[in-house]
Amino acid sequence: MAGAGGKSMGSYDYLIKLMLIGDSGVGKSSLLLRFSDDSFDMNCTPTIGIDFKLRTIELDGKKIKLQLLDTAGQERFKTITTAHYRNAMGILLVYDITNEQSFKNIEEWLKNIEKHTSQPVNKILIGNKTDLGAQRKVSTEEGRKLAEQLNMAFYETSAKDKSMVDEAFFALTRDIKKRLGEHPG
Ligand code: GDP
Ligand code: MG
Repeated sequence: MAGAGGKSMGSYDYLIKLMLIGDSGVGKSSLLLRFSDDSFDMNCTPTIGIDFKLRTIELDGKKIKLQLLDTAGQERFKTITTAHYRNAMGILLVYDITNEQSFKNIEEWLKNIEKHTSQPVNKILIGNKTDLGAQRKVSTEEGRKLAEQLNMAFYETSAKDKSMVDEAFFALTRDIKKRLGEHPG
């Protein structure tokens, strides 16, 4: 019976909207694909516009529908503004551990987020591409230090090797769920 008691297939206890932000090429779309479809596309072509992916997860006995927003083709600070951030409840700030500039730009992205959001937003710092250890330019310690300064959780991930990807998304979702309390919306 559709909708009965809110326990039917397709129903959920929470709808949580997450966004991935960071420089072009850091692996935002790959992380999204890995998390939502459990796949990785080595030749993933940058898409234009905004894409949504969906995944429903269970946390502490609650069904949580995640709406995951990608920002393909709009990865310069000035092009992501209020409209894009609207309704975002959590943001994954992503850099590439082999690209120092992408790490330096995290603070710029943060300023952009602060400038363009009025709602509370939980944030998490992600250093992606840990499988490329030989080309690493940003140490784990540097990442951890920045996250500490910014008062955020920190994860190093590999979208390619499927390392820590679920963990990062789950941690952010758990923080948001906690903030929303038992009776969201
Ligand atoms: P976006 O511009 O931030 O969305 O980055 P993409 O997801 O398009 O990824 C940019 C490039 O990095 C693509 O060639 C991906 O295959 C590659 N890439 C993404 N994540 C990883 C990773 O964890 N490891 C490696 N080795 N390559 C990755
Ligand atoms: Mg992309």
